[in-house]
Amino acid sequence: MKSAKRQDINLDSFSVLFILKGGVFMQDVLIVGAGVIGGSIARELSKYNLDIVVIDKENDVANGTTKANSAIVHAGYDAVEGTLMAKYNALGNAMFDELSKELDFPFIRTGSIVVASSEEERAHIEDLLNRGIENNIPGVKIVEQEELRRIEPKIGKEAVAALLAPTAGIVGPWEMTIALLENAVDNGVKLDLNTEVLDIEKIEGGYKVVTNKRDYKVKCVINASGVYADKVHQMVAEKTFSIIPRRGQYFVLDKTQGELVNHVIFQCPTKLGKGVLVTPTVHGNVLAGPDAEDLSDREDLGTTTERLDFVREHSLKSIPELNFREGIRNFAGLRAQPSTNDFIVGEVEGAKGFINVAGIKSPGLSSAPAIALDVVEIAKEILGNVELNKEFKANRKHHYEFITETAEKKAELIAEDSRYGNMICRCENITEGEIVDAIHRNVGGTTVDGIKKRCRPGMGRCQGGFCGPKIQEILARELGKSLEEIVLDRENSYILTGETKG
Ligand SMILES: Cc1cc2nc3c(=O)[nH]c(=O)nc-3n(C[C@H](O)[C@H](O)[C@H](O)COP(=O)(O)OP(=O)(O)OC[C@H]3O[C@@H](n4cnc5c(N)ncnc54)[C@H](O)[C@@H]3O)c2cc1C
Repeated sequence: MKSAKRQDINLDSFSVLFILKGGVFMQDVLIVGAGVIGGSIARELSKYNLDIVVIDKENDVANGTTKANSAIVHAGYDAVEGTLMAKYNALGNAMFDELSKELDFPFIRTGSIVVASSEEERAHIEDLLNRGIENNIPGVKIVEQEELRRIEPKIGKEAVAALLAPTAGIVGPWEMTIALLENAVDNGVKLDLNTEVLDIEKIEGGYKVVTNKRDYKVKCVINASGVYADKVHQMVAEKTFSIIPRRGQYFVLDKTQGELVNHVIFQCPTKLGKGVLVTPTVHGNVLAGPDAEDLSDREDLGTTTERLDFVREHSLKSIPELNFREGIRNFAGLRAQPSTNDFIVGEVEGAKGFINVAGIKSPGLSSAPAIALDVVEIAKEILGNVELNKEFKANRKHHYEFITETAEKKAELIAEDSRYGNMICRCENITEGEIVDAIHRNVGGTTVDGIKKRCRPGMGRCQGGFCGPKIQEILARELGKSLEEIVLDRENSYILTGETKG
């Protein structure tokens, strides 16, 4: 028999006693995937007395599609009535005010517009208006030239009218997911990163989930594995759907461009998606993109000149004054495009206790809080006799953002911890105190990009050119690692290989 490695033992005293008495310990729920979907479900499930574990193959939460998208909380006029996308988008959107307050993540209701650049396109926005009315989306209306130019003064001169959806908003997708998981962990959920599901076997009363780290025995498995959801599904059931990774590429423009855009601005949609958009971000930058390109590689996050040219050209139709020389970064994200063309949410036929939350393409981010409510009901039905967690804590606090604090608070922070007086990132004004906090939280960052996601050093104009090495040093010091061991982002993304001089 193999001896268990020390780090593989992850049992509380109750479980140990249970096993010593001859029982087979089973955890209640295992969630595959620590993206916005897995995170939302974990947080919602933590309102009940359940033994829950979230696992992810990556070394951080929100490292899949959740970290690379348009960050829009869509109003919900777009999805076809009767689809799960329409249902969850509208419900999810309405949950963002309360959720963002409870968990202290950035969310702004900017409103969105879909621009008609010709009288033919006007017919299109009228169709969207009717769909919005069918989907019960509050406040949707068509605005004509004059009002359009008043609310969005820099809009292109070809614009003749627009569909305005005042309830659309913008969010920090990874901040939201980190907040969800920090709160879930605070409420007792376990999080195992660097843990990849390799196989799932049916056993009496549940499943054995085989990973690269250890095996888990669980009563209920929730498949929230993004672009891999069809593969994970096929570990327990026949193929009933497939996922195509549909890549979208973006420009991030410097905050100098932030003043040019008030709303999320869409052009009329095409068959492949909602069309290229231009939007402010919650931190004052401008995002332009995405295009849509079907791939076979589920990991290909590369960007290409040809596709970025396409994005630039189309964005300029919306806001001609955008200055693309102020571009500070390009990135790509992969939509999990399902063959069914709708979200797939439910217990799998013939695989009792296995729940799919698959094909969660856009508007997945907007829908996540509402999807989580339904998935929790399905899980409760499977588990039976589930009690409320009376100790549930609904709130989680974001770290102090030193630069935005009052003079008194700044002085207090520095008096308590002098590292708040040490400015590390001069583009975004981030102090060492904030970085140390981001490392030592219950879902702390362990990589340079992990710190960037949590408190933004490296998000500014120099993109980490100056602060990157300092962050590496702080990470190494705080985590007790060598500088060479600190990676940029994913596993093996080493930055340094060794010293060049003695
Ligand atoms: C270009 C683009 C633009 C978008 N814009 C918007 C938008 O503006 N608004 C909106 O609402 N939605 C948008 N979306 C959709 C939204 O981003 C997704 O719906 C959402 O992020 C999906 O979250 P997820 O948790 O399902 O997937 P992910 O974030 O990909 O999480 C899945 C996780 O599962 C893990 N995993 C996979 N396989 C395994 C395994 N075998 N073992 C362990 N872990 C595994 C992965 O590492 C990953 O972390 C956009 C998507 C893209 C790509």
